[in-house]
Amino acid sequence: IVRNHTMRDSLELTASRIRQEISKPIRLTGHSITVGASLGICHLPGDCDTTEDLFRGAEAAMYNAKQRGRDQACFFDSNIQITARSRFALENELRAAIKNRTLDVFYQPIVNANGLNIESLEALVRWHHPHRGWLSPIEFLGIARSGGLIYTLGQCVLRRVCENWQQAHSQGITLPEISVNLAAEQVSVPELPGLIRETCRQYDVPVSALHFEVTEDSIQGDFNALTDILEELVADGSSLAIDDFGTGYSSLSRLKTLPFSRIKIDRSFISHLPDDEDDCAITLSIIGLARGLGLSVVAEGVETEAHEQWLVQQGCDYLQGYRYSRPLPFDALMEQYFTTS
Ligand code: C2E
Ligand code: MG
Ligand code: MG
Repeated sequence: IVRNHTMRDSLELTASRIRQEISKPIRLTGHSITVGASLGICHLPGDCDTTEDLFRGAEAAMYNAKQRGRDQACFFDSNIQITARSRFALENELRAAIKNRTLDVFYQPIVNANGLNIESLEALVRWHHPHRGWLSPIEFLGIARSGGLIYTLGQCVLRRVCENWQQAHSQGITLPEISVNLAAEQVSVPELPGLIRETCRQYDVPVSALHFEVTEDSIQGDFNALTDILEELVADGSSLAIDDFGTGYSSLSRLKTLPFSRIKIDRSFISHLPDDEDDCAITLSIIGLARGLGLSVVAEGVETEAHEQWLVQQGCDYLQGYRYSRPLPFDALMEQYFTTS
């Protein structure tokens, strides 16, 4: 908190000094690491009247700084106030939706290379907001994350998936394996495997009916703890995929050591196939890497025949994308692909 020199110029100077200090390289086990910082600046009085609003305003300005491209300072203003207020309202509504278990899950088929058989389904969270309609994860996962709601959101998704699996089962239909996305906040919790077992038990779903997907960035934490958690999941019968491969911080040694059985190539590499030579080269090397490590490969975001042809020719095992199906609500999925009659 700055009590004197609170004119805009001098605050800008203070902010840039703070950023300079923070960005000095740190040496850590022989590596040089630099970090950046996004700063939010809010005035009391002036921008707000209470200390609570001061922190909330500074936080909102900080998010604004992040949105503008990170590593900069941003002043609070009345436009931000609107987004801060709506963000706050949205966070509360999301908290309620999680508590009341009204979050929904859509399912997207993952098909064999022949494009015909559904190999598995990916569960993707959706939120039907009372005024805004259907919201996709990019519109609320950030809010869930900053509000500390990711873990309970994950639990909510898992419960819904089990409930749906059980619903199908009671109609005599065994669904293919369902892939559930796990956030970093989930895979770092030692109780996660126990919680998954317990939820599956409640709904009478075999744990082996579920796959889990984690992104590269989610496996950057404490290696030993992570290994224990992931190995426990596999020992329980689930299998693990690494999601959005190629976009995050990849540690190949982690990929080799952790019990993954599948790599999912990020959509951003697929969308320009086969014209973009760089994307072709990247996709090919990911397929090669997967082969070498004995892992299966899924291409995400397959939209066209040209994508499909190229990927199948290169030996990609499974395909996922709008070419086959958009993510569907459970009822529509059942009606379209799993009717008994
Ligand atoms: P993801 O796990 O990589 O999921 C694939 C995303 O690509 C989905 O977006 C899907 O709708 C979209 N997609 C699939 N095929 C195509 C295509 O052909 N073209 C295009 N343009 N898009 C396609 P969605 O459902 O918006 O999910 C976005 C991300 O949110 C997911 O990426 C995942 O990282 C995250 N997410 C979704 N559900 C959950 C969840 O239950 N828990 C957590 N922690 N994260 C989730
Ligand atoms: Mg995924
Ligand atoms: Mg993905």
